[in-house]
Amino acid sequence: MIDQQQPLWVGLDDNLEVIDPWRISADLFAGNLQNMRQSTIGSFSICPNRVKYSRDNPGHYGGSDATVIGTAYHAGLETFYYAYIIGESQPSQETMYAAICDTVDKEMLKIGGVSMLSWNKFSTVDELKDQACALLDARMQHPLFQAGWEPVAIELTFRLPWIQGWAATGTVDLVLWNAVEGRYRIVDHKTAGRMWQKNKHLKSPQPHWYSMMIQSALEAAGFVHPPVEMDFEIITYGGKFETRTVTPTAHTMDVWNNKARIAALAIESDGPWYENTDSNLCSPMYCDAWEACPSGQTYHIELGK
Ligand code: SF4
Repeated sequence: MIDQQQPLWVGLDDNLEVIDPWRISADLFAGNLQNMRQSTIGSFSICPNRVKYSRDNPGHYGGSDATVIGTAYHAGLETFYYAYIIGESQPSQETMYAAICDTVDKEMLKIGGVSMLSWNKFSTVDELKDQACALLDARMQHPLFQAGWEPVAIELTFRLPWIQGWAATGTVDLVLWNAVEGRYRIVDHKTAGRMWQKNKHLKSPQPHWYSMMIQSALEAAGFVHPPVEMDFEIITYGGKFETRTVTPTAHTMDVWNNKARIAALAIESDGPWYENTDSNLCSPMYCDAWEACPSGQTYHIELGK
């Protein structure tokens, strides 16, 4: 039995992705298995046909200004947490801004031919960088973690055996450890045009999927632990900040596990694929399949929507 007052710490490395307190990183569980991610479970829950579309178009990168800004903001924040974890002093604003600008440049290269003119709000690369830096400044006005909790890992990728033929995977933005209570919590950094609707955090599979897999890894290591709570830390483009906490239970984890199993079955048998035109997210702004999907653009035009 592992001492519950000690985090399952295996040390640090120069590579951020191998900071792994639970020994659950991708390369520690290699295998020829399909991956189930929370994004796939979420997409399937919104509209199964979205999953089919993304599988039929594996190279498609639906880049957007929101994606670029969010990724760059994460990079800036990670600079802070990484320095904290390895015991270095807080990085300068200049260093954090540099991480942001570097990430924007890399994301723009990935996007390649996508015209920024089709995006919502930003038409130059400098505007994207300015917005991501402004988000970081706004976030730094609030505590970077709660009292009593210590950052112990960032960008922690897990890949664990799930059901036959499948691995459960995901990446945790930030892991916090409470030495007094002997438990972990996880944090996901979100950027948004405006503050989330009241119950949006309760609709996500992410807390339940992550908590289920982390708990199974901890149990396998002999660590008795309650379901891991998850904080969504949301910052809006206008600088409003809010933390929304989700506390998974055995039941909620089971519900999402069942949904994930149905998604896995559909993928394995290539259907049947159901097209959910009733979703508010069935729109050109929120669905990459809008033009290609028979229940997307053409269907809605013919309905006169
Ligand atoms: S356009 Fe609508 S029905 Fe088609 S995949 Fe997207 S959300 Fe589903």
